[in-house]
Amino acid sequence: MFRWLILLLIALTIAMIVCVRILDRNLVKNLAKNRKTVVHLIWNAVFTVVCYTVFLLIPPWYERAAAFASSFYYIATDWLVVHLVLFCVSYTRREYAARLPRRLIGMLAGADSASLLINPFTHHMYRLNLSGPGGWGTSCWKIQVKLPHVAHRVFVYALAAYSLFLLFSRMLQVPDIYKRKYGSILLHTLMVLVINLICLALHTRYDYSVILYASLAMVISYLVMYATPRILLERIVGTVVEDSFIGLFAYDKDGHCVETNQIARELLAVEGDIQAAAEAYLARWKEEHGDEDSPAGGEEQVLERDGKKLYLYITYQKFLDAKGRLQGSCFRFEDRTQMVEKFQEEQYKASHDLLTGLLNRSAFEQRVRQILSEATEPYCMLSTNIKDFKLINELYGAEVGDRLLIAQAQEIQKVAVEESVSARLYADRFCSLIPRRCFQEDHITEHMAVVVEQGPGKAFRLHYYIGVYDIVDVDEPVWTMYDKASMAIETIRGDYEKFISYYREEVMQHMMEEKEVLGDFDKALAERQFQMYLQPQIDRNGDTVGAEALVRWAHPGKGMVNPALFIPALERAGLIYRLDLYMWENAAERLQEWKRQGWEDLSIAVNISAKDFFYIDVCQSFRRLMDKYDFCPKNLKLEITESALMENMRENMKTLDGLHELGFDIELDDFGTGYSSLGMLKDVHADILKLDMVFLRDTQNADRNKVILKNIIAMADDLGMAVISEGVETQAQVDFLRQMGCDMFQGFYFAKPMSVEEFEKNLRQRALTRRENCVSL
Ligand code: C2E
Ligand code: CA
Ligand code: CA
Repeated sequence: MFRWLILLLIALTIAMIVCVRILDRNLVKNLAKNRKTVVHLIWNAVFTVVCYTVFLLIPPWYERAAAFASSFYYIATDWLVVHLVLFCVSYTRREYAARLPRRLIGMLAGADSASLLINPFTHHMYRLNLSGPGGWGTSCWKIQVKLPHVAHRVFVYALAAYSLFLLFSRMLQVPDIYKRKYGSILLHTLMVLVINLICLALHTRYDYSVILYASLAMVISYLVMYATPRILLERIVGTVVEDSFIGLFAYDKDGHCVETNQIARELLAVEGDIQAAAEAYLARWKEEHGDEDSPAGGEEQVLERDGKKLYLYITYQKFLDAKGRLQGSCFRFEDRTQMVEKFQEEQYKASHDLLTGLLNRSAFEQRVRQILSEATEPYCMLSTNIKDFKLINELYGAEVGDRLLIAQAQEIQKVAVEESVSARLYADRFCSLIPRRCFQEDHITEHMAVVVEQGPGKAFRLHYYIGVYDIVDVDEPVWTMYDKASMAIETIRGDYEKFISYYREEVMQHMMEEKEVLGDFDKALAERQFQMYLQPQIDRNGDTVGAEALVRWAHPGKGMVNPALFIPALERAGLIYRLDLYMWENAAERLQEWKRQGWEDLSIAVNISAKDFFYIDVCQSFRRLMDKYDFCPKNLKLEITESALMENMRENMKTLDGLHELGFDIELDDFGTGYSSLGMLKDVHADILKLDMVFLRDTQNADRNKVILKNIIAMADDLGMAVISEGVETQAQVDFLRQMGCDMFQGFYFAKPMSVEEFEKNLRQRALTRRENCVSL
């Protein structure tokens, strides 16, 4: 027995020293504080066991040495329990424990130690008596206890009891998962105490509790520094794994499944043995992907679940130790369906028009760029919009407008092939990029007819426009292409028969010029850049009887600009009336001037545009001129084209009557160029017929034209109308017209339009020569 006890104590001592070494090496950072107290505790236990072992080995004849060994043993137990308490204080983290009178305890332990140290001389605490032979030639000692020794025991038991109390009270407080942490130490300490008491009570030969001191120290070190944190960690990780939103398959180094969770089962729809499924999964993965870690963020796998898409992100990760040896591996399965769907929704919102589901501006641009960069065939850009869409919204409500837009988007998508793309830019502005081969007018017409049917009703006939631009340069900015397609639309505005128009460079050039003209117009009018030119009108005798007022634009940048370049633009823009008012006023002012100079018989013919009737009260305007200037209305001739009158025949007739009443003569301009019908002559109360000479320039039908002209002149004569021919360029024309009975002439043959100064100068010159002729006669 003795031998085994000694060997056991030596083994325990070695084990404890090894234990301290291990603790030193595997230092876990956040356990550093506990480690210190644990190490102190172990060294104390070592000291206690060594002292007791030495005590047992001391020969019987060396009593003093035995007395010292026993003293040291008791001193060691003192400090062992002191350190046990200190350990419990730090381990249980009890607040009141922190206020423990450490110094007092230290002093008591010190006093007890000192008392024990002098005991071999004084024997005031106990005395050792031989009680028979021990093992290996040693003997057993019996302790004859005295009262001070009882105080030592009380001190030791009190501290031990306090440690138990700390552990117990802490244990009651903590959640179940932590109870084991305190419970195991509590149990062990209790065992030491009980065994110690039993040994004491039974007066056993040896104090067996010494063995438990050592094991207590080691158990504490194992539990505190290694087992409990690991168990806790495992349990916490286990809970996290189970409660996590991430599916998990974990494997050991041989690929055996060691951990799975419910989420993984659900995500991968595993039925039955999940361990086997996980192992099969790993094997399959390695076959397909090799044995490498998957990239950070995982690999996306899209699975079908109940008809819905499941976006799974799978990460495979291996765990290696410091030497690079495989420890294990795991799969993480993250269900990112919600995230992906949200992202897709955001992406959709950012790139689509939410009303129609077509792309929006920026997405369209990107897609067009992409398609064109890979294009192997010609493409065209379409721009569509609905006429008066704003009006539809205002008259029938936004709902009807929206319905139309959706219908249009649907039809557009039907035209679309894979390599085409469409977008709604804003309001009723749609644009599409389609391969040229897919663009067929009749096909598009059919689709648009469907949209027209969805129109607000019979009262409002829907009209839409499509501008087509055949892409020549694929590197051109997308919005330039779109602008070109839209510009093509500009050329059909107002034309109800036409709804598709193609971009042509010349047309657009012209449009650009027109835009420029319109942009300069206001300033030009304010700065009086427009000038009145006069083209003389000659009677049968060769006398100048008047002139036609023709506008010229003295443009600061472009020089003298002919009206053909800006009048049509001003007419389209509804601005012509402002220029005409200006010209009429100039003419009236000039007539007033001439009247003052004594040229009362000279007349000026001004042009009235068809559009003037829309924008102003023509009668009223001339009445105002009469009030403002002193001239005879007979001298201000009003030139109106027949087509202008025909646009709103009845109303315009009234205007003509009004003008007649004011005393003005009406000239029917450009007669013979438009839809002139001779029958119309009797309905229109004009005073003068102004024949256009384009007839006579048409040499192919020269003879027929002459017959027509002859009849027109005759008829005008019958109706009491004077006839003036304009555009007369040759002597032959003059002769012929004179023969036909034409009264007056205007044309380059006589003079080109000239400035007022020049016109007046010529008049004066002619009057002078005539006077000279008279004098010489
Ligand atoms: P229009 O009223 O028929 O004017 C006659 C045009 O024929 C003038 O062109 C004139 O220069 C031109 N012309 C005169 N004699 C001959 C000739 O022998 N041969 C040829 N080839 N042409 C001749 P212009 O001045 O360029 O005016 C063109 C048109 O512009 C005018 O046609 C008229 O419709 C319009 N216009 C001119 N001034 C005004 C204006 O103040 N108001 C309005 N509303 N229109 C105007
Ligand atoms: Ca004219
Ligand atoms: Ca004319």
